[in-house]
Amino acid sequence: MSRLNGKIALITGGASGIGLASAQRLIDEGAFVFIVGRRQDVLDNAAEVLGSNARGLQADVTKPEDLDRVFETVQKEKGQLDVLVANAGVGEFASLGQITEEHYDYIFDINVKGTLFTVQKALPLMTNGGSIILTGSTVGSMGTPAMSIYSASKAAVRNLVRSWAHDLRGTGIRVNVMSPGPTRTDKLMELLPSEALSEMKRTVPLERLGDPKETAGAVAFLASDDSSFMTGSEVFVDGGYAQV
Ligand code: NAD
Repeated sequence: MSRLNGKIALITGGASGIGLASAQRLIDEGAFVFIVGRRQDVLDNAAEVLGSNARGLQADVTKPEDLDRVFETVQKEKGQLDVLVANAGVGEFASLGQITEEHYDYIFDINVKGTLFTVQKALPLMTNGGSIILTGSTVGSMGTPAMSIYSASKAAVRNLVRSWAHDLRGTGIRVNVMSPGPTRTDKLMELLPSEALSEMKRTVPLERLGDPKETAGAVAFLASDDSSFMTGSEVFVDGGYAQV
């Protein structure tokens, strides 16, 4: 498939898990992909695996000045951006009584503030229109034990696209959110106790965890003209988890 031939894409959190699988898929469909993350050595290793159509750029998405530097580099090297995937995100367990200010700031700074400034700072490069894809989560629209702050942060993300679709009127830029259900990444395996994993499999109608290649398929669809009449929308890739 070559739906993205000649397109320039940037994926935050692109060196691992869902972001890395999306980077691979966008490259397979013809794009050049900048992957962004906090550690240059990790990014360089991932870029080596992805091949000559990938390059790693270091930035902490909570630091607007890091994002300025990243987009200056994209401007210098490619002159434009067609696809932005604001995917960097973190989750952590804390039940209501355990929530601290640090927990709240950590989650909201990366998942909401990071997403906001990643998108805002990419816009001047998207002069030919394009597609912005945020990574949400099923828990942005459902309750889940001891994850209220993560859940609230992803509820914010899923609602940002609804307003931004209006704000981007007339620019030719579409903005949508791809919301994964439980997806087999190293991070999820590290976070979830095995009992929670089996319980999750039981409650997912398709009776398994997702594979990052499956979320990547939805990202490629949203990045391509196959989704040309979609903006302000949410695409769930969750085996039916949040739908029943
Ligand atoms: P992951 O930890 O592999 O991916 C997150 C990436 O974001 C990592 O590469 C990390 O280095 C990067 N990152 C974190 N903080 C950053 C910062 N301040 N600046 C720059 N980069 C930063 O985990 P994943 O499972 O691939 O998650 C990817 C996204 O998918 C996240 O937004 C997560 O909330 C969301 N998600 C995952 C699942 C799942 O089951 N795996 C389900 C729903 C949503």
